This record gives sequence, C-alpha cells and structure tokens, in this order.
Amino acid sequence: MTDVSRAGEEVIYHGSGSGAGGRLIRIETPDGQRIGVLDHIVRHSPTGLTWGYAGSGPADTARSLLIAALGRDALCRTCGGTGRLVLDPAAGEEPPPIPWDPHRPPEEYAAEGLEVTECWDWECDSGYRRLPYQAFKREHVANWGDEFQISRTQILSWLSDHGQRQAAKALGLSEEPQREASG
Ligand SMILES: [Zn+2]
Repeated sequence: MTDVSRAGEEVIYHGSGSGAGGRLIRIETPDGQRIGVLDHIVRHSPTGLTWGYAGSGPADTARSLLIAALGRDALCRTCGGTGRLVLDPAAGEEPPPIPWDPHRPPEEYAAEGLEVTECWDWECDSGYRRLPYQAFKREHVANWGDEFQISRTQILSWLSDHGQRQAAKALGLSEEPQREASG
C-alpha cells in the first residue's frame, strides 16, 4: 500500500476525464499541487476506476477513496492489513494470533510449528475493515460528472455521519431530523 500523504494531512482527490475505461484520480494538496495518484484497490472492477453511475468501476472508486482517506485506520486491526494470521496450533486460544508478516513465507513459520491462516475477524475484508463503500457510491460517486473534487475531510465526515445514521437506524430512530408540521 502506497500512502503519499501523511496521516491527518488534508488532500484533495481530483478525478477528471470521460470514457469507459479506467480514469485517473489525482491526489493534490489543497492548493492544487499534484502529489500522487489514487491506488486502485481492486475488488469489483479489474479494468479501472470510474464514476458517474452505479456500477462496478464506481464501487471500486468508492472503496479505494474510503481506504485512501482513512490511511492506516482502514486496515483490519486483527491482521494488520495482511489478511492472514499466524497462530500456534498447539497453544489453543492463548496467546491470541498475531498478524502475518508478508516477508516471511508460511513454510518458515511452519518450521517453528506455527500456522498461517486466513484472518477470521468478521470485520476483515481482505485485510481492510468492512467499509460502507456501496452507500458512499450511491450518495456520491454515482452522481459525479466528468470532473470531481472531494477532500479527505469531506470523505471522513461523510463516514462519521454515515456511522451515526446507521447507529440511529439500529436504535429504531428516525433517519431524518423531526420537523414541526407546518400549519
Ligand atoms: Zn484481518
């Protein structure tokens, strides 16, 4: 995972261009300096990132943007982003499994009696946390025109609002704030 921006630093994600194939999303400083290109975290659309409709390219754009905006906070806490865990099959539940070190092949662990296994955290999505990217797609990515700009702050505040709306829904509260009936 490349992360061109420092944690907490404001950046702008700036997509432009039309066309059906993959489209470029630049990462810029707030004053418009290009500092990188958004990584495509492939899930639904191997052909590339796109936006402006509700399809698989926009789904990948939504997920890749949420992951980029969150930085290390997007990683599954249990496996540290590797999608795999190392455990001692002889030890049972304790000590808890540790994240796999991708620099060490499973055979090396096996030589020490350890086992490399898929991450079993229910919140793990190929090493990332489960993120509400389909909702972000519906509310934002699907509606963008040929060119869009969205800041990391805007994405993070959408995530926070979305979390609060989901929590309210789970409690059975109304999604919309109550309005007084007009006479
Ligand atoms: Zn995990």
